[in-house]
Amino acid sequence: MRALLVTLSLLVGCGASPMYDAPKPRRYVHADFKPYLEEFQNIMRSAGKHDGDIRSLNHFIWVDQFKDPSTPVVGQCQSLEYSGTFYKKRMWNIEILKREYSPNQLRELLFHELGHCIYKLDHRDDKLAIMNPYLSSEKQLVPAWDEMLQDFIDSVGDEE
Ligand SMILES: [Zn+2]
Repeated sequence: MRALLVTLSLLVGCGASPMYDAPKPRRYVHADFKPYLEEFQNIMRSAGKHDGDIRSLNHFIWVDQFKDPSTPVVGQCQSLEYSGTFYKKRMWNIEILKREYSPNQLRELLFHELGHCIYKLDHRDDKLAIMNPYLSSEKQLVPAWDEMLQDFIDSVGDEE
């Protein structure tokens, strides 16, 4: 039993460092993010917003790299188009330390990134906007989320 524990702890010790290695692209929605995606989809659909690009989520390359200690970036969603070709690629590079961020903060992060890549929204200066480039604190989010969400919904174009 003692040997097993030692082996396990060694494995755990080795498993910690790949967090900072180069991201491994995944072509499926990571299970941890699925509930947030489904919530986003449901909210936007019932608000009558188009969700055309959501259907192409399977074509995203998902990168669930964890937070790079050298950068404060925790999420990225880009659409890259190369002129002269039909090639279009969206990459979502999510770097999250779940130990650091609450489920509410992850939801804000995910909605923010989806705002970029699904609805092409730009950043906003309002401190309590989902599209503000800085993640809100849990203290700010809890009382303000409903209003932030409504504001976000209003900023998205109606059914196309
Ligand atoms: Zn952003």
